Amino acid sequence: MPELPEVETVRRMLEHHVVGRTVRSVRLSGKRLRIAVSRTLPSRLRRRTVRAVRRHGKYLLVDFDREITVLSHLGMSGRWLFFPSRPKEAMPHVHVEVAFEDGSWLWFQDPRRFGLIKALDSERAFRDPALASLGPDPVLALPEPDRLVTNAKGSKTAIKNFLLDQKRIAGIGNIYASEILHRAGIDPRRRAGSLSRREWVAVATEIPRVLFAAIERMGTTFSTYRTLWNEPGSYGERLLVYDRASEPCRKCGTPIRRIVQGQRSTFFCPTCQRRGAVPAPRRSRSG
Ligand SMILES: [Zn+2]
Repeated sequence: MPELPEVETVRRMLEHHVVGRTVRSVRLSGKRLRIAVSRTLPSRLRRRTVRAVRRHGKYLLVDFDREITVLSHLGMSGRWLFFPSRPKEAMPHVHVEVAFEDGSWLWFQDPRRFGLIKALDSERAFRDPALASLGPDPVLALPEPDRLVTNAKGSKTAIKNFLLDQKRIAGIGNIYASEILHRAGIDPRRRAGSLSRREWVAVATEIPRVLFAAIERMGTTFSTYRTLWNEPGSYGERLLVYDRASEPCRKCGTPIRRIVQGQRSTFFCPTCQRRGAVPAPRRSRSG
């Protein structure tokens, strides 16, 4: 499932390709995504020009002129595909086809249909329930340790699941939560409310460090995610713990452990991430 770095990669590519283009027509598959795509979408977008592409957490906001914003979430398998001219071959699972006046095309493909496409009034976009409940985006505004301490006070939720809670911080998913906690030297099973201020400083430092490094490499390669240009991201080779069960920790050699938290896999080093462990000195290449 795409996380913040993958969605930011898509945002940058959409910004590069579609800002300034004007919609000629929009065609819908009529199939239901996470929610049904409004049948009025084609008429609302006709003749509108894309002005900006924003992101908050894992959500994309495509702003058109005359105050219309299309809110989009990639869900499990959604992809935006840009074509400079009309695609020669049809593709399966394309649910939104945007034709621009200059002859270029933008498709939203989503085999598993957990994605979201919804037109909103730009001014009220952040009042939409999907966005209104989200916590701050850790790339748009760097996380503040004191705010995290206050936010986690008394929380019995495991720190790994706390980081995944989009209401607390928007954008972190399963891969980067494991990576952040490993770099911060924190056991993923610890209760969020039990972390010291010093540990929260480590977490607040590692969140943007990991996310920015992943953005630089256009995210991580995994089964369904591809960038808009259909290239896999290359952050996978930088992962220290995720999907490395039984392999030696890159810092200390201890076999990486896999556990299940909230029905999802967590990977960690039992030595580097001991309860109360002082974060091990970082290797420079682990960036
Ligand atoms: Zn280790």
